[in-house]
Amino acid sequence: MKVPFYGHVKQYHYLKQAIDANLAEVLESGAYVMGPMLKRFEGELARYHGAQFAIGVGNGTDAIWLTLMALGIGPGDEVITHPNTFFATAEAIWIAGATAVFVDSCPRTKCICPDKIGAAITPKTKAIIPVHLYGQCADMKAIRKIADQHHLRVIEDNAQAIGAHGNGFKIGELSDAATTSFIIQKNFGTFGDGGAVVTNNADIDQRVRKLRNHGSNQRNVHSFGFNSRLDDLHAGILSAKLTRLDALNDLRRTWAARYTAGLQGCGNIDLPVELAGYRHVYHLYVIETKKPEHRDGLLQHLVDSGIDAKTHYSIAIHQQAGYPWGKSARVVGSVANAEANAACCISLPMFPELTESEVDYVIAKVREWDQAHAATATSQPGMATAGKLCGCCQ
Ligand SMILES: *Cc1c(COP(=O)(O)O)cnc(C)c1O
Repeated sequence: MKVPFYGHVKQYHYLKQAIDANLAEVLESGAYVMGPMLKRFEGELARYHGAQFAIGVGNGTDAIWLTLMALGIGPGDEVITHPNTFFATAEAIWIAGATAVFVDSCPRTKCICPDKIGAAITPKTKAIIPVHLYGQCADMKAIRKIADQHHLRVIEDNAQAIGAHGNGFKIGELSDAATTSFIIQKNFGTFGDGGAVVTNNADIDQRVRKLRNHGSNQRNVHSFGFNSRLDDLHAGILSAKLTRLDALNDLRRTWAARYTAGLQGCGNIDLPVELAGYRHVYHLYVIETKKPEHRDGLLQHLVDSGIDAKTHYSIAIHQQAGYPWGKSARVVGSVANAEANAACCISLPMFPELTESEVDYVIAKVREWDQAHAATATSQPGMATAGKLCGCCQ
């Protein structure tokens, strides 16, 4: 059996009517950039978040650095995040000209560890960027408290978790802004690239609106800016998908529950943790081998079995060789949890259009490998989850 990692075309087929209708509407309207469909989708996206404003931009990376710039954060400033995220989180900090400061992640959630943030704060610190990694929210209540104590900005990197919520908080509620990506492989993606900033701050809204459009909100009048717009065709696709997003996330949660039940008792892997009261939307379903030396073997076993498993992300950002680090990045304290996550992670196929037989086949192949390694099985947590539990991990 072959199990793919994505179901994009299947999704197009069953949403075809709604998507095609919106595409035709845009094509027939003659308005393709900054047109009425973009405006409509921005309104829908803001309402979906229960927020006042949403601004469509070119992609999720731009959404972060445009927000940093709108907040006046740049050269000489420090921004705290964690290194076991997609490279773009840090890349956006560098594009804005600021220094990325990395602290460790939580052993259970893999999101930024609030307990580690304090030690990284200096007079230059301006903001914290928590990432809602894999589809589960970071502990925003704890992060908000730290930000208030030190007068810091908070930007939620929400590229992976639209439709998730925390225990008593919504995304966008406890921050200055939440940024997102609509690249096709995200849990809320268009058939191409896109991004957005969601905020309740009218100043951020106005500034990002200008920055994304050549510093202009009035014809022929410009200040410093860029070209980073979400075009109306993509807005139309996203508008058609948004009404189905909760149902699509529910399907992800159904498959996640099936994986979690089916993989119980495997003594060589740890399973994803969903915190009490949180809604995890499983952009990715990431298991970890308890021993890093097992990871590549299990991954190869799955690939050899026709399963398109992947890793997210097997090289933590501070371990990347290809960046001229210098003054642009700093690691504070041990980042052992993040490094273990990078060394042990495997993402199993996860998309709404999976079938029971595909999920059961993946479960069977993981179990087959686990049983072949019965000698190393243990009920103790593995390297990546063995770290000291923090407040949100208790
Ligand atoms: C995908 C992603 C981004 C970047 O989004 P693009 O649309 O690809 O620019 C940023 N942060 C995280 C956590 C992501 O997963």
